[in-house]
Amino acid sequence: MAPATDDDLAALAALRAEVEACTLCELHATRTKAVPGEGDPASDLMFVGEAPGYHEDQQGRPFVGQAGKLLEQLLASIGLTREQVFIANVLKSRPPNNRDPRPEEIAACRPYLWRQIELIKPKVICTLGNHATKLLTGDPAGITRVHGRPQATEIAGHSLYLYPIFHPAAALYTPAMLTTLQEDFLRLPELLARAAPPAGAAAPPAGAAAPPAGVVPVAAPAAAPQAAPPEAADAPEVTRPEAPDAQPAKPEQLGLF
Ligand code: URA
Repeated sequence: MAPATDDDLAALAALRAEVEACTLCELHATRTKAVPGEGDPASDLMFVGEAPGYHEDQQGRPFVGQAGKLLEQLLASIGLTREQVFIANVLKSRPPNNRDPRPEEIAACRPYLWRQIELIKPKVICTLGNHATKLLTGDPAGITRVHGRPQATEIAGHSLYLYPIFHPAAALYTPAMLTTLQEDFLRLPELLARAAPPAGAAAPPAGAAAPPAGVVPVAAPAAAPQAAPPEAADAPEVTRPEAPDAQPAKPEQLGLF
């Protein structure tokens, strides 16, 4: 992990100010605070969630509700704190009532995430749930199919591993998903210990069918799932529980099943 240069830190601070003042999509009209992201600007490990929820919107910080508590526990399971990683989202402003991000919102916000990746230069990006995974892989394959399998890719001119995992908020409601998330998380240290993928590793081999968006699967860390579980139309996820989340809402209230 190379330390962030003064130029990178200044660029990240400028980006943060830009996000806080952003009016590129309609979400600026309903948000309380934008949530640019936070953490170690030189970390090898970056997390990308979906969008701020109620608490994140109130505080201007990512993953500070129930899902954030679970993320912190998962980080502790591999000996890390949230201050040692960088945490961002696909959308920097909260969608009203935590509805799904819209394509035009994702398109407007995407350059911010790409610039964060360009400046932080992580070795591994953990995409949390469907929205982040689909955006960063450029592939419509859902999280149920691709979780726990690292993919070498190039984003913003930087070679890295994408490592899709279930969204912690979805795992709050589904014990089986939580177990899988915990198992996938425990494979992160081995992935972080690998050398970064060489530049061009994601280029499709000549004559082969091109993988989506220049992404290539690479050997999974030990004990990763060898075959994707059967996918019944990619399970719906609830990634930002509505409202002050002292108690997670019951799954059946959230249309999960
Ligand atoms: N869910 C997300 O996707 N992002 C957050 O910041 C919080 C909850």
